[in-house]
Amino acid sequence: MLMFAYLAATVGLVQGLKFMGDPAKAKMGNLVAAASVLVALVALVLGTSWQGSSNLLLLLLMMVIGTVIGNVWSNRVAMTAMPQLVSIFNGLGGACATVLGLNQVFGQGTMVDDKLGGSVLLLTNLFGAVAFTGSMIAYLKLDGRKLPRPAKVQKTLAQILLGIIVVVFGYYLLMPVEVTPFPLLLLVVTVAALFYGVYFALPVGGADMPVMISLLNALSGVATLMAGLVFRDPVMIIGGILVGATGIILTLQMCVAMNRSLSGVLAGKFSGSGTAKAEGEQELTSITAVETASLLAFSKQVAVVPGYGMAVAQAQRECFALQELLRQQGVDMHFIIHPVAGRMPGHMNVLLAEANIPYASVKEMSEVNNTMEHYDTVLVIGANDVVNPAAENDPDSPIYGMPIIRAYKAKQVIVLKRSTAKGYSGAVNTLFDRQNCKVLFGDAKSSLEEIINELKRI
Ligand code: NDP
Repeated sequence: MLMFAYLAATVGLVQGLKFMGDPAKAKMGNLVAAASVLVALVALVLGTSWQGSSNLLLLLLMMVIGTVIGNVWSNRVAMTAMPQLVSIFNGLGGACATVLGLNQVFGQGTMVDDKLGGSVLLLTNLFGAVAFTGSMIAYLKLDGRKLPRPAKVQKTLAQILLGIIVVVFGYYLLMPVEVTPFPLLLLVVTVAALFYGVYFALPVGGADMPVMISLLNALSGVATLMAGLVFRDPVMIIGGILVGATGIILTLQMCVAMNRSLSGVLAGKFSGSGTAKAEGEQELTSITAVETASLLAFSKQVAVVPGYGMAVAQAQRECFALQELLRQQGVDMHFIIHPVAGRMPGHMNVLLAEANIPYASVKEMSEVNNTMEHYDTVLVIGANDVVNPAAENDPDSPIYGMPIIRAYKAKQVIVLKRSTAKGYSGAVNTLFDRQNCKVLFGDAKSSLEEIINELKRI
């Protein structure tokens, strides 16, 4: 019966993940996966003997506290702060695995006398601790907190820590069990891994942050898998495999989307320093909302490229209203999504789905990039780096080599932004130097409202 419940939970987790691959079913996927974890937890509670122990009460109390905190927190968090929340969740997964590993030896006093079991436990704490501190650094970076600038000494420290970890593993594997003080070795690996996580994440920055987040996600999955092996818990093993594998796939896809090598990301290497023009030197041609509205009214094919600024302005519902209005006037409007637009993978898809924008009108960058000249008008709403042509033709740009949406190829491009500020990577955006590009200054939501009002008037 217990195994049947675990099997059902496993199938549910896989199915939930499958649903998450389709925007229309993503919400349901989340619910199915959460329900599967609940089934596994109930099975665990029912299948464990709790006689004379207060542990069941403690477990239930923790579950209630965790549910309340998770619920309140995720309801309160601003859409723009979602990547920070994801980083914290990743980190907590790693921390849980680390604490479980430490508790196994120091709390339960389990004697680890076979090399395989011991190695798995060491790996649990290695991956869990790196995922924990690495995610905390990612959180602080994404939250815009001041952290030490990347320096050579950090790299040296990271190498020393890695060396210590490798030596401990080698010693443990090669020496007889009697002369390997396992608790001490576990402690050394855990502490070294905690510090390594910090130095691992510190040099990574700018446009490479999404890769780091998904890599840490994969690490927390591997830590869960290892902890599952220690506790012989099938759901933890399968959950860990799924998180680890999907995290690795996403990491590699992100690298492709940004044209970055994983080793380059981890070394914090950037391709250039962005020398095109100093801030303030660029001359931006502005346009009014009224002019933009009439441009749209005379267009046949319109595309919107959403970016981080759309999330800041919370302008997704106005995007939908604009699409509806243009549709009634016989204008076809698409949304083109860059894989790293916004501040987390899938950021734009979530926002557009929230506003009920039809999936059929949402295009991947690769689907339309070779036919961008067919668009009469492209509205770039709060996006910057993902449409910067310098990525294609300026080897000095920090984002050189990153695939971009070729908005510059459209007949007319209007960028909705508030100021002359740069995008996340700090690169100068050469789109603004193009003849066909104009800027509609202002908060994206207010600008869209003005455009909509004007279109209704025309
Ligand atoms: P960018 O950060 O490059 O640009 C955002 C733009 O939005 C800015 O030009 C800003 O200009 C504008 N903006 C901000 N607020 C508003 C507002 N209220 N109304 C109108 N405009 C606004 O965003 P992109 O989406 O183009 O690029 C994403 C970047 O983030 C990439 O470099 C990517 O690598 C990185 N990244 C992506 C992650 C992911 O997983 N997707 C995670 C972490 C980083 P102004 O201030 O003048 O208004």
